[in-house]
Amino acid sequence: MATTQQRAAIQLVLEEARRPLTRDEILCLGREKCLRLGPATVDRFIRQATNNFQLVCVDFPGQPKRFELPADTEHPHFVCRECERVFDLPIMMKLPEVKAPPGFQVTGGEVIYSGTCPECGKRPRRQMGSV
Ligand SMILES: [Zn+2]
Repeated sequence: MATTQQRAAIQLVLEEARRPLTRDEILCLGREKCLRLGPATVDRFIRQATNNFQLVCVDFPGQPKRFELPADTEHPHFVCRECERVFDLPIMMKLPEVKAPPGFQVTGGEVIYSGTCPECGKRPRRQMGSV
């Protein structure tokens, strides 16, 4: 069935990326594998897979939601300041316990590092200052 192919394409995109992808990135990369992939199918896949714990939502404040396949271990994320892509850092890490002040309800925590990804690090840096 056509939908099965589209879902397989999405799954493959997530496996190959090995980093959290936005819905638009999933759609864009998925279309390289399956031309007829539509946004509704991507949305349905994301909704179902997150409900079934087959997909983890990476939700940084002020950023679009991203999705990745569940990892075996807790790991920090890395944001590239050049291309704004998010990567998994394959480092074992446990978040410290947080004693929140009264009135605060902690519902999540993330360790985020930033810098340049290998691709952007190879590019000559953009000239700053002169227009
Ligand atoms: Zn980059």
